[in-house]
Amino acid sequence: MAAPLTSQSATEDGPLYAPRKKIYPQAVKGRFRTLKWTLLGITLGIYYLLPFVRWDRGPHAPDQAVLVDFPGRRFYFFFIEIWPQEVYFLTGLLVLAALVLFLMNAVAGRIWCGYLCPQTVWTDLFYAVERWVEGDRRERMRQDSQKLTLDIVSRKILKHGIWLVIAWWTGGAWVLYFADAPTLVKELATLQAPAIAYTWIGILTFTTYVLAGHMREQVCTYMCPWPRIQAALTDEHALNVTYRYDRGEPRGSMKKNEALRREGLPAGDCVDCFQCVNVCPTGVDIRQGLQLDCIQCGLCIDACDSVMTKLGRPTGLIGYDTDLNVRARIEGKSESRKFVRPRTVFYAVAIAAVGLIMIGALAFRDTMGLSVIHDRNPIFVRLSDGSIRNAYTIRVSNKHLAPRHYTLSVEGLPARLEAIGTEAGSENTANFSVGPDQTFEARVLLTASDHVSSATIVTFVLTDAESGEMVRVSDNFRGP
Ligand code: SF4
Ligand code: SF4
Repeated sequence: MAAPLTSQSATEDGPLYAPRKKIYPQAVKGRFRTLKWTLLGITLGIYYLLPFVRWDRGPHAPDQAVLVDFPGRRFYFFFIEIWPQEVYFLTGLLVLAALVLFLMNAVAGRIWCGYLCPQTVWTDLFYAVERWVEGDRRERMRQDSQKLTLDIVSRKILKHGIWLVIAWWTGGAWVLYFADAPTLVKELATLQAPAIAYTWIGILTFTTYVLAGHMREQVCTYMCPWPRIQAALTDEHALNVTYRYDRGEPRGSMKKNEALRREGLPAGDCVDCFQCVNVCPTGVDIRQGLQLDCIQCGLCIDACDSVMTKLGRPTGLIGYDTDLNVRARIEGKSESRKFVRPRTVFYAVAIAAVGLIMIGALAFRDTMGLSVIHDRNPIFVRLSDGSIRNAYTIRVSNKHLAPRHYTLSVEGLPARLEAIGTEAGSENTANFSVGPDQTFEARVLLTASDHVSSATIVTFVLTDAESGEMVRVSDNFRGP
């Protein structure tokens, strides 16, 4: 019978702290393995190649499609350019990612972990290298149980060498997102790259090698908080990799179960071959029920399906299913798949809402900006003719990739405006240009007669001379 959701390392039957047993996952073929290879190719391909994709933004901006430009204080993502003050777009992206993860979990449990999580993807790749160099499960177990020979040592050196190359390339690809990739590759090759690039490559080489090569399933079982969070978010309708014990039990050897069937006695389809356990990358026996350690990768489904096919029995003894359905079948009721339920609807609506808000914010965001800071000390100055002067620092931004000409004016007070370092316009305006994708800072002096109250609201108006686009920012004009 299915056990409740639990961690194998701390069941009532076993010790709370037990030495780790090394896991030797066996190679397996099947539709879920193919799906995992496909996703591995796509995700790693995107990660390693994306920095080399070019995106023409004109002569005044970098042409790398995805770039975190710390010196220029910009984040470029294809046609989107994010300024530091627009970091809320990244917050929106994180909220969106979390909601998508919740929805995936509500539909099919930890499928993120089984197919797309970087830890799973790189561990899978490292296992593939290990199998290629040292052989499949049995050969690796045999090698580890016998004394070291020259052949074993040379295989281990080769395996760790390939792992280190993959880990180094992983770290190398990461830093390419922070500088012009082709230039940085040349600089790295000629040892002329900045020290910070080598430092990050070193850190990521080490972490990839340790996490994917040595810690493997322990990251998913002990370090990652997602299984605990996921367990709190899931419900009984979420599809999980499930051993259909209604069909599999009572388990027994093929001969024993066939003999039972001939006698008309109950016999399950599970022949207790342990193939589902042998292929599991986290060492789970799914026949004990849903467990926190299971990353829902579906490899045990492939293993069991091939056993069932060889035995001439229907496949699907293990599959994406729910315990509710298992119980329904036992009770002779019909199965159900409830994808549309309050939590999936809520997540879908929330994803749509956040997505639409972000698209709207991107489509209608200002392409020019104005910030105004009033001088704190002195707050105002009385001039010799008795008039009052206030000083401000303004910062104007131009998010276009072409120069723009602006006019700055003031409303709300009959005052003379003077912007130091700009061309004078009429008495109340100043004209200036701001280069493409740049900001411009100026000191602005407002001078008014002394018939002003102690605090009058003034509005600075920035107008694009060509398009007429305007930005308004209000501040105080202080008097005695
Ligand atoms: S692979 Fe299938 S038949 Fe073999 S032990 Fe697992 S569930 Fe039973
Ligand atoms: S029990 Fe099956 S689905 Fe779960 S981690 Fe192991 S192989 Fe993957």
